[in-house]
Amino acid sequence: MAHTDVMVLGAGIVGTSIALNLAKRGLAVALVDRGGAGEGTSYGNAGIIEGNTIFPPAFPADWASLLRVALKRAPEANYHLAFLPTIAPWLAHFRAASRPSRLLETAQLMRPLFARSVVEHDVLCAEADGERYLRRCGWLKLYRSDRSFAGQARELELAASLGIANVSLDTEAARELEPSLAPVFRHAVNWTGAVSVTNPLALTRAYAALFAARGGVTLVSDARTLRRAGPHWQVDTAAGPLEAADVVLALGPWTNDVLAPLGITLPLAVKRGYHRHFRSHGNAALGRPVLDAENGYVLAPMEQGIRLTTGAEFAARDAAPTPLQLERVTPAARGLFALGEPVEQQPWLGARPCFADSRPVISRAPRQRGLWLACGHGHWGLTLGPATGRLIAELMTDATPFCDPKPYAAERFMR
Ligand SMILES: Cc1cc2nc3c(=O)[nH]c(=O)nc-3n(C[C@H](O)[C@H](O)[C@H](O)COP(=O)(O)OP(=O)(O)OC[C@H]3O[C@@H](n4cnc5c(N)ncnc54)[C@H](O)[C@@H]3O)c2cc1C
Repeated sequence: MAHTDVMVLGAGIVGTSIALNLAKRGLAVALVDRGGAGEGTSYGNAGIIEGNTIFPPAFPADWASLLRVALKRAPEANYHLAFLPTIAPWLAHFRAASRPSRLLETAQLMRPLFARSVVEHDVLCAEADGERYLRRCGWLKLYRSDRSFAGQARELELAASLGIANVSLDTEAARELEPSLAPVFRHAVNWTGAVSVTNPLALTRAYAALFAARGGVTLVSDARTLRRAGPHWQVDTAAGPLEAADVVLALGPWTNDVLAPLGITLPLAVKRGYHRHFRSHGNAALGRPVLDAENGYVLAPMEQGIRLTTGAEFAARDAAPTPLQLERVTPAARGLFALGEPVEQQPWLGARPCFADSRPVISRAPRQRGLWLACGHGHWGLTLGPATGRLIAELMTDATPFCDPKPYAAERFMR
């Protein structure tokens, strides 16, 4: 039986960042996944390290918007009808958490993590030779109507009070930054402090390589073999059984697969999302990710091509792909930017692991000694992976945490 101090189950951006932070603090760590680092949800995101985020995504605020979603006319959201009864309780909590006062509360509770997000990536990138994957020119949110731009007033006001850098631009000023964008929008905001990634998979792999260089061990295993063995935890790996006093579950949307058999079920849902890469026509190019706010998609320049990513789809995690949103937004995206042929035959599908209150869980597991949780990073796992890694490593080593961890405790769901 092999022994280690800590096993981290799940080698997405969250688990890999945790394993690395623990190894940097001198612990013997095994990073365990059924596949390679960064090949799950962390593979397919829009690549934005959004330290600028203030408000979380919200349930539609008015009946007209809700009706558009219900009638499947809203590009930002889709659902499988047969899944609605299953997701209804989660949606009710999400709706309650979308009241203006709750959104403001979430913004305040999440700020310490967002404020550390770019810095903690910088720390890891400096050592992992990851700087080559980062672009430091912000990300652009585009608004096609005066009305939708006016809807951002509160966010911009708060950004000013919090000192979060951004620049509001008219069409021409935005096109000076991104000349290949067609003038189909009236306003833009460049969130200049945000950083974007040219290849999220390569970035996670760079962190995993640094982890290995620090003496960390990477193993292949099905995390569902996790079991208690006296005071320890064990999993079966391809290299034989492994034992540790502490285990961290960083399994993203698969967390409950391992947690539920241990008697704990977190109210974790998934918001599925798609992407597809496209070639550019002629010399068309993008220097940074661009959100088309009314149409609910992002165009993100990646090493593989221009990555078109979609909003949320409420469906069972493992249900067959239904890339309706991608089909719906592609014409609008083509009107904004000269997308050429798709790179892949089929779109990629991932599942954002989300709690209804839009806060992750970064804490001890209730009632299980030596079990730690880091999941539910929703729309911001790439952003928050390294900050999560630092926070959980500080909690596990009894160091002073860089922020109050209470808002991210699993206990909030155990009342
Ligand atoms: C379309 C889209 C766009 C996004 N854009 C952004 C963005 O711009 N910025 C941002 O910050 N975030 C974004 N996100 C969110 C972000 O990608 C996720 O929050 C993040 O990847 C979650 O990381 P994770 O490490 O928790 O999960 P994952 O990356 O899914 O990692 C979990 C790991 O667990 C492993 N695993 C699961 N089950 C088992 C098992 N039984 N045994 C062993 N291993 C197992 C998987 O193989 C996987 O490697 C986006 C998401 C989507 C879908």
